[in-house]
Amino acid sequence: MDFFHQFAAQRVHFAPGRAAETLTSEVRHHRAERVMVLSGGSSSAVADTVTADLPVTIRLDDAARHVPGPLVDRTVSAARSADVDLVLSVGGGSAVGLAKAVALSTGLPIVALPTTYAGSEATDVWGITSDGVKKTGIDSRVLPASVVYDATLTLGLPVGLSVVSGINALAHCVDALWGPRVSPIDRVLSDEAVRGLVGGLESIMDSPEGLAGRASLQYGAYLSGVVFASAGSGLHHKICHVLGGRFDLPHAETHAAVLPHVVALNIAHAPDLGERLARSLGADSPNAGIAALYTSTGAPHSLRDLGVGREALTQTVDAILAAAPAGNPAPLNWEVIARLLDDAWLGDLPTS
Ligand code: NAD
Repeated sequence: MDFFHQFAAQRVHFAPGRAAETLTSEVRHHRAERVMVLSGGSSSAVADTVTADLPVTIRLDDAARHVPGPLVDRTVSAARSADVDLVLSVGGGSAVGLAKAVALSTGLPIVALPTTYAGSEATDVWGITSDGVKKTGIDSRVLPASVVYDATLTLGLPVGLSVVSGINALAHCVDALWGPRVSPIDRVLSDEAVRGLVGGLESIMDSPEGLAGRASLQYGAYLSGVVFASAGSGLHHKICHVLGGRFDLPHAETHAAVLPHVVALNIAHAPDLGERLARSLGADSPNAGIAALYTSTGAPHSLRDLGVGREALTQTVDAILAAAPAGNPAPLNWEVIARLLDDAWLGDLPTS
């Protein structure tokens, strides 16, 4: 018991069916009068339903994955020109990511209404992609001041997207187990996050229209974001950042393809963490638990299916090694990373 742990200062509401009124009270709480609403893709329809009573000065519906630099520049200019005093993101990690990029330049507070399970709303981590390189950083200004979770607004997220987004959240809390700043508190929260996510995914497969699974996934996703922010990026996230930026890959699917192989690599060198993860997955071993979850949910698990060339992967090994945290449980070298990437490309799930 010799550790440091910092809790994020954030207001969090779990308010099923009450997003609009909860957002109104949060905007009032922050004394905001000129709100910028950011959304994108299918979440724009959700923004229509929750912003009618807000003092919206400007609304942009062009949030895009990996937060492209030119989009950030345009959105920051728009925020300044319209003299907004709060940014509301309605959507998944792409909308939250754009709001964070605006906050990074302007210091504006963010209220986030997440519609996926990416968990970015619970972190002080930002990312912006320029010229094929995703730059990330930590800054307290980008942590949303308030988060409003309304599980009813995720009912429209198709099962396939829900699964892959839930696996993305699973990657946050699993990678946190060996994150560079992990504390015992993070590990407890990680256990609970894994249980919430696995229960939520099972429930969604049984009953896609049911609210219980969606709510459980939101709860797990929030905790996953909390522990990821606290423990810091482990090997898994470093790999996904390099691959996502280099090949413009879909974020959650990339996490899903890489996660089983980072787990298999690391638990061989950290059996205590492996036992812990197996318990929260409700399985005999972490590999078996993850394989069973992927099989029952139909989660994607191959980089090949994302269109990446097998040979091209080896060009990313040096960048991954340079970014990998020093304390990773498994010793890392060029061959180890190259083999892991090749396994993720082939997509065979480790089972024992
Ligand atoms: P996303 O926001 O692009 O959403 C994925 C897809 O879901 C999109 O096609 C979107 O239109 C659709 N969608 C969203 N809500 C919907 C709804 N309610 N109904 C129907 N469709 C809906 O992607 P994401 O997976 O949520 O997040 C990925 C991004 O978030 C990446 O850029 C990633 O780097 C970032 N991220 C950042 C952090 C962090 O801490 N900084 C953490 C996790 C993810």
